[in-house]
Amino acid sequence: MERTCCCGELRASDAGKSVRLVGWIRARRDHGGLFFLDLGDRTGIVQLLIDVQRRPKLESLSVLRCESVIEVEGVLRLRPEETANAKLATGEVEVAVDWAIVHSSADPLPFALDDGTAEKVNEEMRFTYRYLDLRRPKCYGRLLRRHKIAAAARNYLNENDFLEIELPTLFKTTPEGAREFLVPSRTNRGQFYALAQSPQQYKQMLMVAGVERYYSLARCFRDEDLRADRQPEFTQIDLEMSFIDREDIHALIEGLMARIWKKVLDRELPLPLPRMSFQDTMDRYGSDKPDRRFPMELVDVSSVFSGSSFAVFAEPIAAGGVVKALNGNGLAHLSQGEMRVLEDGASAMGAKGLAYIKLEDGQWKSPIGKFLTEEMRTALREALSAKEGDLILFSAGPWEKACAILGRVRLDCAALQKEKGLLSLSDDLFDLLWVVDFPLLTYDEGQSRYVATHHPFTAPIEEDRPLLHSAPERVRGQHYDLVMNGVELGGGSIRIHSSELQKDIFENLLKIPAEAVERLFGYMVRAFRYGAPPHGGIALGLDRLAAMLCGTNSIRDVIAFPKTQKGMDLMVQSPSSATEKQLRELAIALH
Ligand code: ASP
Repeated sequence: MERTCCCGELRASDAGKSVRLVGWIRARRDHGGLFFLDLGDRTGIVQLLIDVQRRPKLESLSVLRCESVIEVEGVLRLRPEETANAKLATGEVEVAVDWAIVHSSADPLPFALDDGTAEKVNEEMRFTYRYLDLRRPKCYGRLLRRHKIAAAARNYLNENDFLEIELPTLFKTTPEGAREFLVPSRTNRGQFYALAQSPQQYKQMLMVAGVERYYSLARCFRDEDLRADRQPEFTQIDLEMSFIDREDIHALIEGLMARIWKKVLDRELPLPLPRMSFQDTMDRYGSDKPDRRFPMELVDVSSVFSGSSFAVFAEPIAAGGVVKALNGNGLAHLSQGEMRVLEDGASAMGAKGLAYIKLEDGQWKSPIGKFLTEEMRTALREALSAKEGDLILFSAGPWEKACAILGRVRLDCAALQKEKGLLSLSDDLFDLLWVVDFPLLTYDEGQSRYVATHHPFTAPIEEDRPLLHSAPERVRGQHYDLVMNGVELGGGSIRIHSSELQKDIFENLLKIPAEAVERLFGYMVRAFRYGAPPHGGIALGLDRLAAMLCGTNSIRDVIAFPKTQKGMDLMVQSPSSATEKQLRELAIALH
């Protein structure tokens, strides 16, 4: 099929040319003896003029439904000035059709493909007919943008001497990390692979193998309950390097982001990116992925309440904790329902309640008002720059928990401020930063043991190593997260490359029994005994990055064939049952 050009490319300067086009009929307008079709392909649409009096055979096109596929030949001409459409790139021209054939005539559509209609259709319907949904220029535009990000990443990494290497998808089950998808092995009855959650261990083995610079656009699989922005399979820009330190990774990734900004957004990304320590970001924003597009910050007001008669605050301070406060500017007039939103957010983070003060009508309206002396009010007013119309919110308890609770309240306050027109965030505002100096280990109350904050292969910061056994909670890891607008875009670390240290962390700090360490990670501990280079790496979530650069909240919008919240692919109807024979071969009995 030799089309001379694509539909969306035609311009007034092409007028007079003969053209041959292929595409889908997007719309029809009848004018008695004369009708117009909009013909569309991936580049856009152009108007076709069909004059049946001049070309009687073309009458047959008038019965075709939208989304039928045709091929036409004709002459491009300028539209009469009064009919030009300034909103359309091809709006000044039309094709006077002389000849056409029909490649495929379409059935009535399950839903109309204009954005206005399609976006109101429920997601189940759109996903069942995803091939129709994707025909919308908006959806195609997102796939295109995702492709540009991936291409920019590949080019950049290729230029920096990285090798693209595919790593196994069929991996093995390991207990540290998210829940895995198990794959039964037919040839090894009763045994299972696990789909790789990430190529972490393989990429480290590539470093031991001397590859020095690896990357891949890695498919990762996690069998997690799917929150709004999660998918069971997703893609990471995954890389690993030898003979480097944290600074090298920061510089490399900053260069990569700048390249993507330039190629995809045609914008300069100011570098270097700012960095914040975990301690600092928790203190100020109550989150390890701070959204700094709005300035509202947490303030430590422990000194105001220490020794006060208000036990709910004084006791946690006496127990070594803190009282944090936040000024929700302009939110003194929240309704009861809106206050409940804030309280629910706090209690989802483990708060028992949410103390507040409304600075309203010249008064301090608050359930804790009777505990507030004049001195305390002055101190609070100063610490929080509080004024008439503000809402002050508090949390008290152990430092990290108190910060995290108020961090959540902070986000909910910002959402309310946005609703009320007190805060506006433009779509093209991107705040990128590194968060560093995370604790190496986090105590897991449920399991009564430490777990790795990032993953168990992360190296401790050298100067904290003496504390590994005496005060493990104070050891920081050589771990870094890249955060944008309150979302974690990715993370990585400098790894352990000493066999002894890796074994010590597994057995003595993570309390994985020696036998299990040998079974699960024995090969790694062994590999490190044959000459392991210092190495580290990072993985960036491609889906999330693409979604953010496409201005959408959902990664489903930038995945060609996404799964529903229940993990189903509605188009192909998966998952589906297996036959008796298949199950027998796999030695699986269903209960
Ligand atoms: N494999 C890690 C992850 O998926 C990233 C890294 O440490 O490189 O989070």
